Amino acid sequence: MPRRQPPADLSALGLGTRLATAGREPRATARFVNPPVARASTILFPTLAALDAAIRAPDSGLYYGRRGTPGIWALEDALTSLEPGAAGTKLYPSGVAAISTALLAVLKAGDELLVTDSAYEPTRLFADQLLKPLGITTRYFDPRTCHITSDFTPETRAILLESPGSLTFEVHDLPAITATAKARGITTILDNTWATPLRLQPLALGVDISIQALTKYVGGHSDVMMGSATATAALWPRLCRAHYRLGMNVSPDDAALALRGLRTLGLRLDRHEASALAVARWLEAHPAVHSVLHPALPSHPDHALFTRDFSGATGLFAFVLKRGTRADLATFLDGLHHFGMGFSWGGYESLALPVDLAGCRSSTRTAFPGPLVRLSIGLEDAADLIADLEAGLTRYQAQFA
Ligand SMILES: *Cc1c(COP(=O)(O)O)cnc(C)c1O
Repeated sequence: MPRRQPPADLSALGLGTRLATAGREPRATARFVNPPVARASTILFPTLAALDAAIRAPDSGLYYGRRGTPGIWALEDALTSLEPGAAGTKLYPSGVAAISTALLAVLKAGDELLVTDSAYEPTRLFADQLLKPLGITTRYFDPRTCHITSDFTPETRAILLESPGSLTFEVHDLPAITATAKARGITTILDNTWATPLRLQPLALGVDISIQALTKYVGGHSDVMMGSATATAALWPRLCRAHYRLGMNVSPDDAALALRGLRTLGLRLDRHEASALAVARWLEAHPAVHSVLHPALPSHPDHALFTRDFSGATGLFAFVLKRGTRADLATFLDGLHHFGMGFSWGGYESLALPVDLAGCRSSTRTAFPGPLVRLSIGLEDAADLIADLEAGLTRYQAQFA
């Protein structure tokens, strides 16, 4: 049977070539283009000597289902080879599981965690409801603070970052934050779901653990849930230990779906990015719209940081209406044809979601004159999406006439 190989170094190749090549070690895939989907709990050993050799080195090859199968390793290796500076990647049954396991890997009782106030809401709830009873305290900081030294205490052990932030799209000064953290031995973890490694390379900017909800862009088709955490060599052993001890495991079928999604991620992101920018610029000029929260727009307060650190954008952003309440949004949202209403994002289909920030912020205040709507721009034609939004905003404004 194939033994595990370190992922190939693809850094000299172009992005499309890397996405088509990553995780396709011939020893793992044999003569198949894709690794076969192995549904396995038990792995059989032909001899006692083979069993004992495996017990001595359980991560060197097939051992037991929870230690992975070739298709799962292929996805892990592919994700690792997309992030220069990475020692390895672990997979989780959801993005939330990746975040919580990474936090448990680096924190212990008595430690303090700093979390960006713009973090994904379930991340806050994990810190407030599950870390707190374990004796780990959490403080929330303004995502736009670039030198957070004043927020540190001797107990500060880790910083959880997310850039751009969920719902309001603030961008961190990552090199400034990671340099300050490194000087104090504080671990930095970044939720990189929005950008993916195709648009931001967190480890190269000093981040220790980079996380993705593969549920979003890597999966890309709204039919799989999975998370990943990619770590530097220094953090890799602790990440593996927490992953094994918590019994984290993904299904081989889901890994195959995520790996399939990864092959077309480059093409899809280019389309998501271009259409989202077209829609965002159109919205910015619309009389019903107060502001558009998209870091690739020059009007965004963190646009300079964004263009410095990111190689491009993706398809998720939000906009604020000039007037009205959440209840008034029904006239706009209920009649849209091309935007579904629902959670998650990053699929081929567009979504619109009304956003309520109450409960999602504690250290920063955001005052908007009207409701906030988040859009995930899918792979439809931008002109059709704009026509749909235009009709929706006409309906919206008519109720105030
Ligand atoms: C969706 C999301 C997650 C969690 O992913 P799940 O697979 O739904 O658990 C984490 N971070 C961000 C920014 C997300 O949008």
